[in-house]
Amino acid sequence: MKAITVEPKKPGTARWEDISEPDPMNGSVLVEAVAVGVCGTDAEIVEGKYGWAPPGKRRLVLGHESLGRVIDPGPVTGLKKGNLVVGIVRRPDPVPCSNCAVGEWDMCHNGQYTERGIKQIDGYMSERWRIEPEYTIKVDPTLGILGVLLEPTTVVTKAWEMVMAVGQRSFFEPRSVLVTGAGPIGLLAALLGIQRGLDVHVLDRVTSGPKPDLVRALGATYHSGSAADLPIEPEVIIECTGVGAVIGDSMQKLRAGGVFCFTGVGSGGITSRMSVADFSSTIVLKNMVLVGSVNANKRHWFKAGEALARADRAWLGQLITRREKPENFQQALNRQPDDIKVIIQFSEV
Ligand SMILES: [Zn+2]
Repeated sequence: MKAITVEPKKPGTARWEDISEPDPMNGSVLVEAVAVGVCGTDAEIVEGKYGWAPPGKRRLVLGHESLGRVIDPGPVTGLKKGNLVVGIVRRPDPVPCSNCAVGEWDMCHNGQYTERGIKQIDGYMSERWRIEPEYTIKVDPTLGILGVLLEPTTVVTKAWEMVMAVGQRSFFEPRSVLVTGAGPIGLLAALLGIQRGLDVHVLDRVTSGPKPDLVRALGATYHSGSAADLPIEPEVIIECTGVGAVIGDSMQKLRAGGVFCFTGVGSGGITSRMSVADFSSTIVLKNMVLVGSVNANKRHWFKAGEALARADRAWLGQLITRREKPENFQQALNRQPDDIKVIIQFSEV
């Protein structure tokens, strides 16, 4: 079979090549790939900045935003041939740490977890892949190709759970949320905010292209320009840019007692406009909580599937702005100005 593989930490080594059939060690369920979403992490791995091959191997099969169709459900499973499924990305560390021991591998504290397509386990960008039944999530069949949005939805499902969990330290019934960044994560965070009945505001740089209309189609308000000029005082901010200036300006807008959740991963940029002491004073005097959120456990995968199944199919469909064939994976990784989610399509749904 063919797969998109890369030698991690070596730029220019990614290729669409023949490899052996999926390793039964990866699970008893055999799946035919339908599509795999691409994101910044895939681009970083291909650029040689990130990623680890499986032990004893030099190359890693790329891809963690999966969608596939069961070919063989294996001996013990509630799955049937033809079911649309996605694969959970992270596996608990082998020690395991206390969080991994209770199934909260997204909160692993020794860093020895593994991840499909990223860290020491082959990913989902192969014509066929295997998976353990307990890490397989069945997708609502009416979602079809939109099931490929499940992995990014898990990220924001966990972020919302974090926001509500830390919010409960005091009376907390938020009515408004600001989402910074209208990429796939920001738009899905906004979708979940609307599903919670909140007044949702989304801030992004662009003034044209599909993003403003997608935000308005949700029933949310689109803003461009600086967060400092926003005429709102949200109780929740979900940060999806990782950009220092956006973080600093939007934080000033958070209502006292609010929750600021970081999901974006950035680097560099301005050091700070505020001293650390000024920053801590703001947090103290406004009773603010800053919480970071990454990855997802099985509960988030389940809840994300439910959220997608409730969402408008036409709206979700507009998040997928480009589909590429696996042999053209390099084009998929090359970001275009109006891209939201780009997918690599392996077969028809
Ligand atoms: Zn762990």
